[in-house]
Amino acid sequence: MKNDESPPKNSDSLRQELVRGILYIHSRLNANTSETLEALSLLAALVGLMQQKGLITDEELESARQAAGARLSEQFEQKGLGILLQDKEEDKYTYESSVTIDCSSRVHLCRAACCRLAFALSKQDVQEGVVKWELEKPYLIAQEKDGYCSHLQRGAMTCSIWEKRPVPCRAFDCRRDARIWIDFEKRIPNAEVGRADWPHCLENEQAPGAAARPAGDEVRKVISTKLGEEVIPL
Ligand code: SF4
Repeated sequence: MKNDESPPKNSDSLRQELVRGILYIHSRLNANTSETLEALSLLAALVGLMQQKGLITDEELESARQAAGARLSEQFEQKGLGILLQDKEEDKYTYESSVTIDCSSRVHLCRAACCRLAFALSKQDVQEGVVKWELEKPYLIAQEKDGYCSHLQRGAMTCSIWEKRPVPCRAFDCRRDARIWIDFEKRIPNAEVGRADWPHCLENEQAPGAAARPAGDEVRKVISTKLGEEVIPL
């Protein structure tokens, strides 16, 4: 007798399958969102100008389209449409600009503040299926209620997925971030890292060291999400 039953899948492989499916759905949704945005921008501009003038030039139409596109794009972002991924895909296993800091001798001062910063994962992270992300905010790193990354081991304050940590975790340089260190060399942390609402309590402040970032646009884009900038919607 033919046996149609395939061997049962374990929870890890099921999750991998689910993540691949969700990634595909989000990719399609994202493509559709982009096309809809484009169509709505053009239509809004055309209708608006036709109503006002009855006759338009290409320059006028393009100008109005761009303005309408920017406006609609802002509305889409406010409504949480679209997905968030690192805007330049880097292979984390060959990434060459990793920053080396003796975290273990300083974590009692900085309180692992870098592991409270939000950032978007890469497709590599998502497809690998190890790094957790927020199901309601794809694909931001998953954080617990206390704001810390889900992969941070409390107590030791170490990363449970160190070998597979995302690129922003490898590239982030806390020495240059005044939200964390007033003076890195003198081991003086920003006292604000002790606050439960850090880093949001600093959102309206201009951190003196925030502008000092590694040279090179590509690297900056990859790590910027851990430096407090907006994540980039694809
Ligand atoms: S993945 Fe590891 S290094 Fe990166 S934020 Fe989470 S705990 Fe920190």
